Amino acid sequence: MEAFKCERCGAPLEVSPETIVAVCHYCGFPNHITGNLKTEDMFLVPSLSKGQIAEAFWRNVERDFDLRRIKNSIQIIEIEGHYAPYWVGEVHVEGRVDYTVIEEECETYTDSRGGTRTRCRTVEKHYSDYVDETLNLIGSARRQVESFGVTDIVRHYSKTRPKEKRLLDLDESQWEKLKLEVLNTEMDEEQARLMMREDAIDVIRNRYSAKADRIDRFEVKANEPRNIRLLLLPMWTVYYKFENSIFHAVFAGWDGKRVASTEPMTALRRVEYLGGVALGILIGAVGGAYGANSGAFALTGITIGLGSVLSGYFGLKVLEGQRVERGG
Ligand SMILES: [Zn+2]
Repeated sequence: MEAFKCERCGAPLEVSPETIVAVCHYCGFPNHITGNLKTEDMFLVPSLSKGQIAEAFWRNVERDFDLRRIKNSIQIIEIEGHYAPYWVGEVHVEGRVDYTVIEEECETYTDSRGGTRTRCRTVEKHYSDYVDETLNLIGSARRQVESFGVTDIVRHYSKTRPKEKRLLDLDESQWEKLKLEVLNTEMDEEQARLMMREDAIDVIRNRYSAKADRIDRFEVKANEPRNIRLLLLPMWTVYYKFENSIFHAVFAGWDGKRVASTEPMTALRRVEYLGGVALGILIGAVGGAYGANSGAFALTGITIGLGSVLSGYFGLKVLEGQRVERGG
């Protein structure tokens, strides 16, 4: 493969067959490689530094009831940060949705003896909505399966809408302060436009699927996306060690918010879960003994089953030795 060099500073670029734009590691210049993409529409949400993420990690440990008690045994192994590319844009959707909801209608009446009675029946209610709205959409510009924390980063971005900087406006010294590894962009603008229109229709369809028992007519069209841009979002992962196991916490790079993590289970929680295992075994044993004595085989089956489900569930929790936390 031919060697690519940065248009601005001449440094060598890392380019794979899927690369659409390569951001120079040395100067931050976005080099267009292939596909449909305008580098003036590339933006970046500036990241905090590695040190600030470490501080955010320890602040979280202090705030977390379980982690605080074991903080002296926690050791940071590695802090890794990168910018990942996302396509962002607005899609206007318009059209008609007819749907049916099955409802219960009740009425009270007085019977022949003068008593009050209630009579209910199910009825089909028909609705017709006109959809006319603009959706703000964001989607990964990569083809790989999303790694742990990505959906949480996206949710946090939609909630906070952090400030963006045009990548081309950053000079070398500004880039030097913000730079992190930049993951490859593997989806160009044309593909992103297609995806966004499909996503927009899905958003509306899912909304109606959730509230309707039946969709009778769905004629909603998505217009061409507007204000479409490629956005680099910073994400950090802190790997830390506790009792010979490695856990990780994912942070949003712009404000240091912990968005997702796996955490060690403290000794107390372990006891609680083991209690669950013991209880499960106990139910199984008692049920089994009782059932065998009285000849009630059905009961034996059910209680042994319940017991093993309980101990299986709690046993699994202990084996994992960790819990998954997602920040809201
Ligand atoms: Zn360069």
